[in-house]
Amino acid sequence: MANCVFCDSEAIFTDFPHVAMQKVQCGLCGEYQIANQLLSHLPDQQDWARTAEILSKAARAASDAGTPLKLKSEPDVLTAIARYLPKAAAEREAE
Ligand SMILES: [Zn+2]
Repeated sequence: MANCVFCDSEAIFTDFPHVAMQKVQCGLCGEYQIANQLLSHLPDQQDWARTAEILSKAARAASDAGTPLKLKSEPDVLTAIARYLPKAAAEREAE
């Protein structure tokens, strides 16, 4: 068993070798798909801990909405964050 790249909880990985992606089922982040190349490179990013926290919540929200994140490349990651952040800000305002 491997750990979720976003929240470091135990997660179930399903390998899709033909597209070099993994489906991840995480108790915290829900379900998402991520390219092998991102799995190995993302954690090297500067400020990764903060980005990972946002991605964990973005993945959960997308998974709950029935449209799991499919992160094939870096732009997909940025898009996921950009889509999620306004929602998070709106929720904070509603509190
Ligand atoms: Zn997770």
